[in-house]
Amino acid sequence: MKIYEIKAKRILHRTKIPGADFAINHYSGCMHGCIYCYARFICKWRKQNDKWGEFVDVKINAPELVAKESAGKKGSVILCTTSDPYQPIEKEYELTRKVLRNLNPNMKLSVLTKSDLITRDIDIFRRFKTCELGLTITTLDENIKKVFEPSSPSSNARLQALKKLKKEGFYTYAFVGPILPYLTNLEQIFKEVSPFVDLLMFEDLNLNSCRKEVFEAIKKNFPELEEKYRNLSKEFWFEKEKEIQQLSEKYNKPVKIYFKHTGSLKFR
Ligand code: SF4
Repeated sequence: MKIYEIKAKRILHRTKIPGADFAINHYSGCMHGCIYCYARFICKWRKQNDKWGEFVDVKINAPELVAKESAGKKGSVILCTTSDPYQPIEKEYELTRKVLRNLNPNMKLSVLTKSDLITRDIDIFRRFKTCELGLTITTLDENIKKVFEPSSPSSNARLQALKKLKKEGFYTYAFVGPILPYLTNLEQIFKEVSPFVDLLMFEDLNLNSCRKEVFEAIKKNFPELEEKYRNLSKEFWFEKEKEIQQLSEKYNKPVKIYFKHTGSLKFR
């Protein structure tokens, strides 16, 4: 893993991501190295030839920039959109913690991660008037997780993190994205996470930036699905939307669906 300490010019960026006005990415690159990660496009912008999942740029001046740029700002802010704020290097740098400590607490905070390290910062989250905390859960099957999210914490660790955050009184959500066709068991996820979350969000699999990586993983680990992945259609995703709505009623949990294939993902 290559770690580069760099200085950023700005840190609070406007975003078109649904539900957020600003995004903060104080790390660039991610040690979790998920196969389907859309943020791998970052590799094209860098001088170095490092592969996705094998480098992290650490923006060491992020805490100072956040204090300056968020002062007096209104609106919502998400950590992070192109990295994971609680990837393993956070244990050493505590950059997310420092960023949160300096962020204007009047802004509406949303944090999304795959790591149970998020529970370390419960004291800092309490600074914010409004705060929602999300854990990504694409599957509860460890064998599937290991294929697509090789270096991230186990699904059970994420479930335990949600449980703890809910117990501490936070607004929590599960981000089920991307749904892995024929592998993500939606009913199982509803059943396991519903007691600990206020909301479930869903995203479809967008192969534009990770086609090669996903097909390699499918071919190697689930060869029986290769043909099905080649034939994924709009109808498949419309059916998934229906299934999610039915499960939402069954488990009495609100959902948000962000599917590009069906047009339910709307950027502002
Ligand atoms: S945790 Fe998120 S940012 Fe990191 S590799 Fe996985 S999908 Fe990408």
